[in-house]
Amino acid sequence: MKIQLLPSTFDEQGRATQEQRLTCYLIDDCVAIDAGSIALSTSDEQRNTVRNIIVTHPHMDHIATLPIFVDDLFGFLKSPIHIHATEEVIDLLERDIFNWTVYPRFSELKNEHGPVMVYQPFKTGVEFQVAHLTVTAVNVNHIVPTVGMIVSDDQKTIAFSSDTAETEEFWKLVNQTPQLDALLIEASFPNAMAELAEASRHFTPESLNRELRKLDHNGIDILTVHLKPAYRERVARELKALSIPRLKVMETGRTYEW
Ligand SMILES: [Zn+2]
Ligand SMILES: [Zn+2]
Repeated sequence: MKIQLLPSTFDEQGRATQEQRLTCYLIDDCVAIDAGSIALSTSDEQRNTVRNIIVTHPHMDHIATLPIFVDDLFGFLKSPIHIHATEEVIDLLERDIFNWTVYPRFSELKNEHGPVMVYQPFKTGVEFQVAHLTVTAVNVNHIVPTVGMIVSDDQKTIAFSSDTAETEEFWKLVNQTPQLDALLIEASFPNAMAELAEASRHFTPESLNRELRKLDHNGIDILTVHLKPAYRERVARELKALSIPRLKVMETGRTYEW
């Protein structure tokens, strides 16, 4: 399985940098988890192949360019873009984003080939299929309805925490999975900002360290994501100081393969 965290920040020469302001993972160039930077950072080829997007929660950093992505492709789509999310999240997207004010309600629009955007609601705890992937999502502990998930192809299984603070169901799901290859987990704020992290339901390196004691799998790759750009260096230093084997900060733009 190939996974890429799309870049969301560029330097004065237009080159992608490592700061992560938006969240969007591409899996095998065809399925996206979240859509923060999807319209900014997909290649022309990826724009032609990504037709399934799983939305973990409606925070702006996870959906910012989703409307632009659908808009870009509107006239060219031969099959619709499928948005996979819980009913709760779909309702929020329809109410707050695709509401004819912020942007058109694409779920009601068609081009010459048919609908351009179709919602595919899923239930937490119930396995579902997205393209060639099998996905199970569960609620995590964030300030809006949010899911974490495990994603498998025939060979490999990867867990994504999305945005969360201390949580239980996600670890139950992860630990029930017989074989896990990698865990992508958030570490947003430095240790000194534990109070803000707790209030906004995110991890610091210290709280992540406590949380990782709930993980039963040994020797898997752990990639930390969602480091707040303003504190990136500090959070990265504090993560390194934990000396957790195979824990690294995920690089944007790089294609990881398991
Ligand atoms: Zn969030
Ligand atoms: Zn976020």
